[in-house]
Amino acid sequence: MRCYIGIGSNLGDRQKNMDIAIQRLRETDAIEVNKVSLIYETEPAGGPEQPRYLNGVLEIETDLAAIELLSVLQDIENQLGRERIVKNGPRTIDLDILTYGDHEINEPGLKVPHPRMTEREFVQRPLRELIKDKPRTSRGVYSEQGRGSQVRGKG
Ligand code: AMP
Repeated sequence: MRCYIGIGSNLGDRQKNMDIAIQRLRETDAIEVNKVSLIYETEPAGGPEQPRYLNGVLEIETDLAAIELLSVLQDIENQLGRERIVKNGPRTIDLDILTYGDHEINEPGLKVPHPRMTEREFVQRPLRELIKDKPRTSRGVYSEQGRGSQVRGKG
């Protein structure tokens, strides 16, 4: 299954956190990381006052079921010391399933496509770059809101 994964960090060495998370994904047997978008620096969207984020999107190929993939992402978040103290608060690493093939999943712990992906420019811009077209999901189309500045590219 081809999936797009949102990745973000706004605590500590943000680039290093993202590099480690991507490395962990590459080391996971059932996951191939095919593409890594440019990484953008963005303003926090909501939540308490907090540092700016680095955000990007990964294209992966996986044999895992969506719920298993979520569990892998959460393990990596936990390994990187993410503390869930404040909703929408700062985090060492945040990994979200944006899409899982063209599946729609609506379970209490897993909503796919990610419900807020179409309104977040920090997701849409790197996603567009990877799929080379305006991303469309069953929940809506690309929206031009939000701003971020590109800091550097990877892979
Ligand atoms: P967050 O704090 O923003 O990382 O949200 C984490 C929570 O969102 C977890 O409890 C997940 O079960 C839930 N969740 C729902 N849909 C998704 C998704 N598509 N990707 C990642 N987490 C999700």
